Amino acid sequence: MHKTLYWLTKDLRIDDNAALLSAAKSESLLCVYCIEPRWFSQYRYHTASMGAHRWQFIRQCLADLRVALASYGQEILFVVGEPDRCLAELVERHAIDRVVCSFLPGTDEAAALAGLAARCPELIIDTQDTYTLFDRDSSPLPKDRVVSYSKFRTLAERTHTSLPVDSPTSLPPLPPGISFADLRKAEIPDLSGYEARESDFEGGESAAKRHLKTYFGSTHASSYKKTRNELDGWETSSKFSPWLNSGSLSVRRALATLRSYEQSAGANDSTYWLYVELLWREYFQWIAVQIGPKLFSLRGINSCGGFKCFYPERFEKWCQGTTPYPLVNACMKQLKATGYLSNRGRQIAASCLVNELEIDWRYGAAWFEHQLCDYDVASNWGNWQYIAGVGVDPRGGRHFNLQKQTETYDPAGSYVARWSPGPVLQTLDTRDAADWPIG
Ligand SMILES: Cc1cc2nc3c(=O)[nH]c(=O)nc-3n(C[C@H](O)[C@H](O)[C@H](O)COP(=O)(O)OP(=O)(O)OC[C@H]3O[C@@H](n4cnc5c(N)ncnc54)[C@H](O)[C@@H]3O)c2cc1C
Repeated sequence: MHKTLYWLTKDLRIDDNAALLSAAKSESLLCVYCIEPRWFSQYRYHTASMGAHRWQFIRQCLADLRVALASYGQEILFVVGEPDRCLAELVERHAIDRVVCSFLPGTDEAAALAGLAARCPELIIDTQDTYTLFDRDSSPLPKDRVVSYSKFRTLAERTHTSLPVDSPTSLPPLPPGISFADLRKAEIPDLSGYEARESDFEGGESAAKRHLKTYFGSTHASSYKKTRNELDGWETSSKFSPWLNSGSLSVRRALATLRSYEQSAGANDSTYWLYVELLWREYFQWIAVQIGPKLFSLRGINSCGGFKCFYPERFEKWCQGTTPYPLVNACMKQLKATGYLSNRGRQIAASCLVNELEIDWRYGAAWFEHQLCDYDVASNWGNWQYIAGVGVDPRGGRHFNLQKQTETYDPAGSYVARWSPGPVLQTLDTRDAADWPIG
């Protein structure tokens, strides 16, 4: 039997958690969450990765998970620092012989595990698939090449999706020398300096379960395809993303609940479309695994696309929602105020940065990374590449006509009035604006 350390990352739940189930088969178990100081400091593109919305949500997830683990006689040890170093120290101190964690796309996660393996060559590292519909063995994306989303979707629809697994019935005790009571007393370290804020999203597995029940307890899923493109409104889309991406909701559980809903309420175009969107998430995950660091490269997946600039003042106006484009301003203000933006809003804001403001798309992606409470590395950087025309889109980029988008999605101006009230600027040609472009 192993002495196991379970490194919690984007799997902050008990339900359908293959990593926790594997960790349960141990003599002793130490659950660890690692908080990295660099999350809160400016590094890439002058922006810190972790903003206030996501950090608040994650803290709520962790608090909720602590309560759930306590019912198993378990607790979380919080450590601050780089994961490979922190975990290696714990492995040494507590004679741990196995680390269990979730398999995650993203180069930082892979680098941390490689670092840990290098520091502890004898250690068993067991990575489990908890974040995606498919396992690494059954991923429908061909291993040797990138295919279009429509091809992936066809393959995915033919591929068996594993069912959610049960919660563990019991968990092993903490290693000798670590007291449950001491861990219980410890606060979740907060290096952020962020203030608490009102949010529509409450983090944690308990809230995720309630949200899933409410969503499928209504008929919203049956009209999803008609409403999903709306700019505002709680019921217009599922709002699963923050829970999915913190791992407080399993994507397999979400799909299984959708399937039960279809059985009782009937399947239609809309319920099918919700599945199609979950497959988009899946597609970006497996693309990210395949392309590695190219996910963050200016010229993207196919090393294409021209030279781009960075204009600090234009960028600042975009971030703060003070561009000459009222619709974009409303999107950016909603994002900043709530940490959430509809898919349509994200597309409009991203297209404006790339096409109207002609800024290097990676600055926009980094700003979204900081602001979004549902930030996911593969979905965010993958969608940005797509809009910028350097990603997986076979049509080569997306340029949204802002006038047309306003007429279609905000014909009465209520969205702009809600999020960016005040004098409505005319949509200016940036080249004619007195202070524009600068830099
Ligand atoms: C520039 C840009 C950046 C984005 N960044 C993120 C991000 O960091 N995290 C994130 O989860 N999504 C991201 N998306 C995708 C999408 O906007 C959100 O998933 C969606 O708006 C979340 O709201 P919802 O849960 O109500 O979605 P719904 O419309 O209800 O969709 C259900 C689920 O399907 C998945 N999904 C839907 N659309 C997409 C998509 N285009 N790509 C990937 N998954 C999708 C999500 O998991 C979502 O929760 C981004 C899109 C764009 C254009």
